[in-house]
Amino acid sequence: MEQTFIILKPSTINRSLVGDVITRFQRKGLIIAGIKMMQLDEKILREHYAHLVDRPFFPTLVKSMMATPVIVMVLRGKDVVSVVRSMVGATNCRNAAPGTIRGDFGMSGQENIVHASDSNENAAIEVARFFRPEEIFDYTPVTLPSLYAPDER
Ligand code: UDP
Ligand code: MG
Repeated sequence: MEQTFIILKPSTINRSLVGDVITRFQRKGLIIAGIKMMQLDEKILREHYAHLVDRPFFPTLVKSMMATPVIVMVLRGKDVVSVVRSMVGATNCRNAAPGTIRGDFGMSGQENIVHASDSNENAAIEVARFFRPEEIFDYTPVTLPSLYAPDER
């Protein structure tokens, strides 16, 4: 099974949506392999958002991501990167479909509730950037046989 990397952004912390967002991932059947709270700084954000450093909104993005501590997570599941991206929805919450996390919980293109990795390659890079190996747990929930057929596990 694959892994993906999630940030519950300061918008989620400030708006008391942590439980609602995590509940969605859990009810879907995704396994929490790692979870912690941390304060982001400009150094890690310049790496994490390296593809955006030259964009005009980058300074406000950095400020927004440092506004409160965040909750970072590693989620595990079959095809989890694409499953989570479709649960999260379009980048701008105003364009995100109802039923998606951004579509249901936000109104902003920047204050958009969560980050989720966009490929397996980036997920591996991001997990390693934000977690130490011993903070990721490889366990089998007792519910696994109800979540997947034997050939899907
Ligand atoms: N962002 C922004 N303005 C934009 C595009 C992106 O403030 O016009 C922010 C937004 O918070 C987004 C993050 O930059 O989540 C990363 O952008 P990306 O294109 O990677 O979108 P995502 O993968 O988060 O959907
Ligand atoms: Mg992205």
